[in-house]
Amino acid sequence: QKFVYDFTEGNKDLKDLLGGKGANLAEMTNLGLPVPPGFTITTEACKVYLESGAEPAALRDEVSAHLDALEQRMGKKLGQADDPLLVSVRSGAKFSMPGMMDTVLNIGLSDASVVGLAAQAGNERFAWDSYRRLIQMFGKTVLGVDGELFEDALEDAKRAKGTHDDLDLDAADLRGLVEQFKAVVAKETGRDFPQDPREQMDLAVRAVFDSWNGERAKLYRRQERIPGDLGTAVNICSMVFGNLGSDSGTGVAFTRDPATGHQGVYGDYLCNAQGEDVVAGIRNTVPLAELEQLDKTSYDQLMQIMETLETHYKDLCDIEFTIERGKLWMLQTRVGKRTAAAAFRIATQLVDQGLIDEAEALQRVNGAQLAQLMFPRFDEKAKAERIGWGIAASPGAAVGKAVFDSYTAVKWSRSGEKVILIRRETNPDDLNGMIAAEGILTSRGGKTSHAAVVARGMGKTCVCGAEELEVDTKRRRMTAPGGVVVEEGDVISIDGSSGKVYLGKVPVVPSPVVEYFEGRMHAGADDADELVRAVHRIMAYADRVRRLRVRANADNAEDASRARRFGAQGIGLCRTEHMFLGERRELVERLILADTDSERDKALSALLPLQRSDFVELLEAMDGLPVTVRLLDPPLHEFLPDITELSVRVALAEARKDSNENDLRLLQAVHKLHEQNPMLGLRGVRLGLVIPGLFAMQVRAIAEAAAERRNAKGDPRAEIMIPLVGTVQELEIVRDEAEAVIAEVEAATGTELSLTLGTMIELPRAALTAAQIAEAAQFFSFGTNDLTQTVWGFSRDDVEASFFTAYLEKGIFGVSPFETIDKDGVGSLVRSAVEAGRATRPDLKLGVCGEHGGDPESVHFFHEVGLDYVSCSPFRIPVARLEAGRAAA
Ligand code: ADP
Ligand code: MG
Ligand code: MG
Repeated sequence: QKFVYDFTEGNKDLKDLLGGKGANLAEMTNLGLPVPPGFTITTEACKVYLESGAEPAALRDEVSAHLDALEQRMGKKLGQADDPLLVSVRSGAKFSMPGMMDTVLNIGLSDASVVGLAAQAGNERFAWDSYRRLIQMFGKTVLGVDGELFEDALEDAKRAKGTHDDLDLDAADLRGLVEQFKAVVAKETGRDFPQDPREQMDLAVRAVFDSWNGERAKLYRRQERIPGDLGTAVNICSMVFGNLGSDSGTGVAFTRDPATGHQGVYGDYLCNAQGEDVVAGIRNTVPLAELEQLDKTSYDQLMQIMETLETHYKDLCDIEFTIERGKLWMLQTRVGKRTAAAAFRIATQLVDQGLIDEAEALQRVNGAQLAQLMFPRFDEKAKAERIGWGIAASPGAAVGKAVFDSYTAVKWSRSGEKVILIRRETNPDDLNGMIAAEGILTSRGGKTSHAAVVARGMGKTCVCGAEELEVDTKRRRMTAPGGVVVEEGDVISIDGSSGKVYLGKVPVVPSPVVEYFEGRMHAGADDADELVRAVHRIMAYADRVRRLRVRANADNAEDASRARRFGAQGIGLCRTEHMFLGERRELVERLILADTDSERDKALSALLPLQRSDFVELLEAMDGLPVTVRLLDPPLHEFLPDITELSVRVALAEARKDSNENDLRLLQAVHKLHEQNPMLGLRGVRLGLVIPGLFAMQVRAIAEAAAERRNAKGDPRAEIMIPLVGTVQELEIVRDEAEAVIAEVEAATGTELSLTLGTMIELPRAALTAAQIAEAAQFFSFGTNDLTQTVWGFSRDDVEASFFTAYLEKGIFGVSPFETIDKDGVGSLVRSAVEAGRATRPDLKLGVCGEHGGDPESVHFFHEVGLDYVSCSPFRIPVARLEAGRAAA
């Protein structure tokens, strides 16, 4: 096994072995770009070290051999006293990870070689600056010395000199700092700063390995679901120097604008500086374009290289470079991060440039980005005073009055005020306030804090961890840096997509992408937004290649029409319980309270025409497309008054001695229907089996509506769906009853209705006996919300607010199983039920309804297991279309 690769031996596809940085350094080397020579120690070596606690036996010799070769090539030895070879030791895992060890530059400098370096460069200041940087970086990242001790000493030196600028420190000052830094190391670690260059290098390599299991790195991996056993590579790269004078410098660049995708010159440059100075912000950088005046040759070469990289990687790249006395060196490149809007634009631009094809373009964007583009946003042109900047936890743009507790949030929102709930952090007690608020702002906690998780679950705008905002809930105020105070009732605006917090009301504009999906903006129009055109094209690619059809969860004609505009190919879930609310509640109460058959029949007959007209509207809105209607599902107590409220009402009435007969009966019924676990109680098909006539009424309403549409020359395609079936016997009974009703309606209206009848698969038993259930069902729709609840034994309404945060933080799962389908557990039941169902009935239609139908990762899973369609809420439809396309491309 080979543990070390020269930069000339690797390539960009070896990220698993060489890490991202190493693989791309190798790729650039082989493209003939000017990369300082070096080599990469593989992730395999790291894995051995992490497992056994020691570097693999062969590693030392292999490193020696590569170091020898490097020294030969450079004509000097590592740390050689009169002319030292210096190297950087750079961590580089497959995915770039905060919390990993920082790069250490200038390895090889010592009390002896610093003198040689000064002589060789003819620049004493430079040599001592490089040495103090080495001790500082090495002390901090390898030896674990508190970095502030070095920074304080540096500050003191500058203060003594009466300056703020590092460049004003001369060779003597820096030499003094080196002595101080060495003293700090000796005091803090009990040993001297190592003078042996090879020892410096080996210690740094080991520190990189160790940093893989640092707490911050581990936490990050759990959150991003990066496996913990990948290990990191280590790059040893010969040093080039940007701090040799005004003809030297260092910079970062993008091959195109990561915010818009536009081609051009984007980046920053800093004269006479070493790597980390650019990002550390110690001096002001200049825009990259100014490099043209400073050093035209290097500038032109850089432009050429950027073009080479774009053509080669066929994507936006970001770049780190250094110029040493007029010679350009490339130190890093990778495919660059970009905003959601830029991702869509760049993908289509690259198609136009002929660099990628449409299938590849689909892989360059994703549903999460599209969803981001669909949120309303703050008007960029508006003036806004930013008072804080936290973590973008749940996207959206929210404006409202500041409130500091849940009670006030609820009270004010009831009286029609829009509020933003501000807390230091939230806990389950804040739930009501979070529901009432337009948005949530916290000063503590990260992406998996309670506020973030719950807000995302509710689709509510949230900014969390805005640490510079001081929240004082007792005095109901928040203080921003600079002394701005926000009192209860003051209006603020929060941007959940960027994490920014503004004082006052920032105007909100609808997303142009939604305007486009709604049909209010046309991609072909002359003045069409560039982004809209890009989205239009990408959606067209996705629709062309996807196999999954996309339907909507919609209960009324209005939602159905919007869904259709958004590209829905039918309704996958119409929840009939939503048709039982409002004024109709009274009829449902009568149905529940009915003592006799005739009372019950009366209630049902009153409901029939109402249901029928709902269905007529729905079938009309979705004419020609399938509409799956689910028969009544929720436990009946949901239609009755709240038990406590009702008890109070009855007790008060009794005290006044004017008891109301109906209330008494209601209270009795509520008591009778009360269940410990309503989710597992009398609901779904069980209702149909114990309440005579209920399902028959609903089936009749559907059949009559279909007949009416047929007579009006429409093309109704209703599908009747039975919820919460656990065994085929339940389904057979309901099916026989339904078929009889349908036959009656067909006979009475003289039409042939071709209604189909199927079931939800949302109980483990249904999934396990899918082969039998398919005998009686023409379609399955996986109800993955309930299936997740029952497979995990989680009560969704309770667990998300109570212990999911803890589970996410401990890494038990990276994302809630209600958000993304749990492939190993719930998913494997879906997979086997699909196979069993199709074995029984090859033309069984298969779909999924529930939140997962609009979740990108879940959509890919449903594609892979061979479902026919996914169904999701109207606003998620474009996301599902896109992801279905990406899954198939
Ligand atoms: P990060 O992963 O944080 O980007 P890098 O390993 O890229 O860390 O190092 C940070 C910066 O240090 C680089 O951008 C570059 O400017 C500088 N650097 C690293 N290695 C060298 C080198 N061999 N010569 C000169 N500068 C270097
Ligand atoms: Mg870098
Ligand atoms: Mg269900």
